[in-house]
Amino acid sequence: MYTKRCHALLSELGYNHPLLTTSCTDALEMAALMLDLQPGDEVIVPSYTFVSTASAFAMRGAKIMFADSQIDNPNIDSVEIAKLISPRTKAVVVVHYAGVACDLAAIQGVIGGADIALVEDAAQGIDSSYNGMPLGTIGRFGCLSFHDTKNISAGEGGALIVNSVGDQQRSEIIREKGTNRSAFVRGEVDKYGWVDLGSSFLPSELNAAYLLAQLENISETQKKRKVAWNAYSEALTDKLASVAVQLPVIPPFASNNAHMFYLVCRNGEERNALMEHLNGIGVQAASHYHSLEKSRYYSTRYQGPALVNSERYTNCLIRLPLFTDIASDQVSFVSDGVLRFYGFD
Ligand SMILES: *Cc1c(COP(=O)(O)O)cnc(C)c1O
Repeated sequence: MYTKRCHALLSELGYNHPLLTTSCTDALEMAALMLDLQPGDEVIVPSYTFVSTASAFAMRGAKIMFADSQIDNPNIDSVEIAKLISPRTKAVVVVHYAGVACDLAAIQGVIGGADIALVEDAAQGIDSSYNGMPLGTIGRFGCLSFHDTKNISAGEGGALIVNSVGDQQRSEIIREKGTNRSAFVRGEVDKYGWVDLGSSFLPSELNAAYLLAQLENISETQKKRKVAWNAYSEALTDKLASVAVQLPVIPPFASNNAHMFYLVCRNGEERNALMEHLNGIGVQAASHYHSLEKSRYYSTRYQGPALVNSERYTNCLIRLPLFTDIASDQVSFVSDGVLRFYGFD
């Protein structure tokens, strides 16, 4: 039972009550189902994120309220959340961008005592924490991704972390097509059947077997990634800061899981020129998200203000290559390429 062994390893890593899913998107969709959203309910979501963070809740009829990012990093800004909270707000979804925790104390302060669920899109957050607590274990639900672009992979895969005891039974049912099959497998009922809404959110044992090997090797993987991340940081931080290029910040409450090393250029032309320069020397550097309120699907529905930080990250952010087995001379080659672009030799 590879799924069971993955659940056990995830529990050892501090994710209590994890449920493997076929993707983080599915984990988000399960969270949305669990919230029993009604048409007209509002869900606050960062604009600078992957489509699934918003679409999982839009699929349940929720009105998506896009919030801007912080000025010094792409995470959602609690001040912007505060502006969007209304009596119809049912959930706030945060994304821990690049595996660096959002300012959850500020966000929880803004949510206050209201009956608003905090959902963590911790797709990039494995092996990273907020004040020592693993990302995905702080909100009512946490959603992890094991897509092959993430630190550890199942090819495609994810997990829903169910942090409230009251949600555990129903999330099991939703994950198994709306049936109580899990209870049946445990011998608690002698037949299983349709008891709620649900879908097929559980991965095959094949995916779980692949993931198990990845989980067993997570320390080795993370060690290598952190070496590469630190090498980028050492080579680039001081010089690029001196020319007003924005670099990743790791606040005191956050840890760094070396998911991503990114730069925020001074303007869009500079970012595009840097990307062209790097691509020209054989380095695959990439931009990242596009502000979701400006997407083809959402732009005609959006009525809020311009989200200036999200747009700035859309236009100015560039990701440098970072993968488990990147060699130190590859990191130097990329760093040198970036520094040469900015006139350092
Ligand atoms: C990768 C990612 C997702 C989607 O994960 P899948 O497992 O591919 O569904 C969602 N949100 C964020 C922030 C991501 O980085």
